[in-house]
Amino acid sequence: MAVLVTGGAGFIGSHMVAELIENKMDPVVLDNLSTGNKKAVTGGRLYLGDIRNPGDLDKVFSENDIESVVHFAASSIVPESMADPAKYYDNNINGTLCLLKAMERHKVGRLVFSSTAAVYGETERIPITEDCPANPKSPYGETKLAMERMIEWFSRAGTLKYVSLRYFNACGAHPSGEIGEWRPFETHLIPIILQYLLGMRDRLYVYGTDYDTKDGTCIRDYIHVSDLVRAHTAALKYLEGGNKPEIFNLGMGRGFSVLEIIKAAGEATGMPVRYETAKRRTGDPAVLIASNEKAAKILGWKTDINDPVKIISDAWNFYIRNPKGYN
Ligand code: UDP
Repeated sequence: MAVLVTGGAGFIGSHMVAELIENKMDPVVLDNLSTGNKKAVTGGRLYLGDIRNPGDLDKVFSENDIESVVHFAASSIVPESMADPAKYYDNNINGTLCLLKAMERHKVGRLVFSSTAAVYGETERIPITEDCPANPKSPYGETKLAMERMIEWFSRAGTLKYVSLRYFNACGAHPSGEIGEWRPFETHLIPIILQYLLGMRDRLYVYGTDYDTKDGTCIRDYIHVSDLVRAHTAALKYLEGGNKPEIFNLGMGRGFSVLEIIKAAGEATGMPVRYETAKRRTGDPAVLIASNEKAAKILGWKTDINDPVKIISDAWNFYIRNPKGYN
């Protein structure tokens, strides 16, 4: 029996494929390579196609004995979503609708969905529990929330069983250094620091030093991609066990400021990291930290890697082995 990984050529999807292979499972990837790369797919069968195309989905489902789907294929860059909401409504919401309809046609009833902490927006409570009100602040967060809810309504109407996983800040890379975080257009802190250290960027900016936090910079919960994908395997097992649909946060449960991450990058790389300060980036909440208690209790999952120096060392290992990414 196979597991379909939509978006399996992207950052987290490619690590999921590696995780499935390491667990002797059988991944099938469907990816349109809009941001992913086929070199990131280290095994399984890769189909080039788009989830918005029912023909592409029918081909994958009819040629493979698919039991479960892990759904990553989506646009995921907050600033891009602010500038081009239509892209997000089409790719994310329309794409998920096409996928759910294909799953119904082919009688595939288990889904692990890649959601995000961006569904929360700014919360009153830290750490953030799954019952905190969702109040997204960008088309990215808004469409991910709509996808979660679409999945929930399909589940209520039919036989679909799902787990939605709300990621905090995914980072790091596979310990082999073969696959890692590489996008054509990067906005995330850790890869930006590493690209700066490799001379691929002239400057490193810290956006906002006047937040109400210990050092004035934003605090985030950084989670190693290896820990993240392990939670998906736990979710697949949970669904196999016939358990009810659930939503889980995935985070370390600890927060680090931008300056702490810069310091950890200095330790991980052995290089001095010079930065400049800039004004706040629009839409950045001051603090986002996950409560990971629900995932610990129900999935029996928690993070193994709790040190940002280790996380950044793995990301750095990927960068120095692949200074041009997958190009
Ligand atoms: N950040 C920064 N400089 C950069 C990129 C990001 O200071 O070049 C900050 C950003 O303002 C936020 C934190 O780093 O406070 C994490 O940003 P990232 O884009 O990695 O993740 P987000 O939390 O926005 O999803």
